[in-house]
Amino acid sequence: MRAHVLVSSLILAGCISNSAHGQASHSNPWAPVDVGPLPSTASLSDGVWLKGDLHLHSRHSHDSTNNSEAKIIAFSESVGMDYLCITDHDNHVQGDVAHNTWADPEFKSDSLLLLYGGEWTTTRGHGNVFSARPYDHQRLYDVRDQRDVVVGAVKKELGIHLSANHPSGKDHFGYSYDIVDSIEVWNSAVWSKNANAIMIWDDMLSSGRKLTGRGGSDSHHGTPDTPEQATKNTYQRQANYVGTPTTWVFAKARTSQAVVDTLTNGRVSVSANPFAPRVEFYADLDQDGKMEVMMGDNTKATGKPVRFRVQLTGNTVAGAAYTVKVIKNGDPFSTLQAIGGKTTMVEFTDTPITIGRTYYRVEVEGPPTAYPQVPESMALSGNMVGLSNPIYFNFDPNF
Ligand SMILES: [Zn+2]
Ligand SMILES: [Zn+2]
Repeated sequence: MRAHVLVSSLILAGCISNSAHGQASHSNPWAPVDVGPLPSTASLSDGVWLKGDLHLHSRHSHDSTNNSEAKIIAFSESVGMDYLCITDHDNHVQGDVAHNTWADPEFKSDSLLLLYGGEWTTTRGHGNVFSARPYDHQRLYDVRDQRDVVVGAVKKELGIHLSANHPSGKDHFGYSYDIVDSIEVWNSAVWSKNANAIMIWDDMLSSGRKLTGRGGSDSHHGTPDTPEQATKNTYQRQANYVGTPTTWVFAKARTSQAVVDTLTNGRVSVSANPFAPRVEFYADLDQDGKMEVMMGDNTKATGKPVRFRVQLTGNTVAGAAYTVKVIKNGDPFSTLQAIGGKTTMVEFTDTPITIGRTYYRVEVEGPPTAYPQVPESMALSGNMVGLSNPIYFNFDPNF
């Protein structure tokens, strides 16, 4: 009898503790959630678009050609990049300062925001770290063969952004997506080989994860002056270089911390190269003609129709047709056309369900944009212009 009472009170205690932490809804995607306050409408204009590459290698990576950091940084500056993360393979560990990306005197720029990062290279695949300041990469390296909960705890302690690299294929990210903040959905100039990465992204979004999709050239450097015959694989081909693809972030300020924060909050889109149009994706929640949220934002579905806007900013071709594919909850929803011009945009309407989650994201195809410094990349990315992150409805912000 005494034992029975004890068990009952334990169960009760468990229930109370679950709801107190807002976790009860995790097990049921159809339960109503408190999405928290909307970002202010002002935040849609109060920010700065910054572009960069989040995955590339220098001579400090054993499998890269001999490009120095100075050369990569100078090239990035010359094509107008705003930020860069050189992600050499775990070379910050084992005390080899001569091969340390950050300790290299060339790790500096007057105009680029240089993130601190590295490619975490493990038997279970690769992930990139992004950080606004130096961190103890050795600690993450040391737990690479431990369970995901251990890795996740170390990642949290270090205060870093962890991202899943090339999630399908060779060296795919083989850890839980519960420990990452973003996923590389567009790796290298070769857009066509990312289909499985996109599938995994949609699977993770469908699980209720608010997971930012980002790009990364993963360039091991063939361009601009390494002969093609000296390159061994797609990553090293001349066509794959800084900015193929380019990741745009709508940051609150021009700082490294704001870039990392934006990669986490998802106001991010990816374009084929630094000169290709930028995909922007907004929603007008009450059809008053004013956009209240943008990609990466999570809002409550009210049961009223929502007006969505897809906008291409930058070098569109006047009169050319751009195909906008809308994906809703992992499935094709509709295919629209935007005609290139002074303002290139298209709108559509849908009513997200009030109970349960919905997300919308877009992919845009159209005429390739020239990248004169890396001319071969145009053929590899084909007609792919860019992609957005999702706009989310009823996602649990605590999940
Ligand atoms: Zn890798
Ligand atoms: Zn890499």
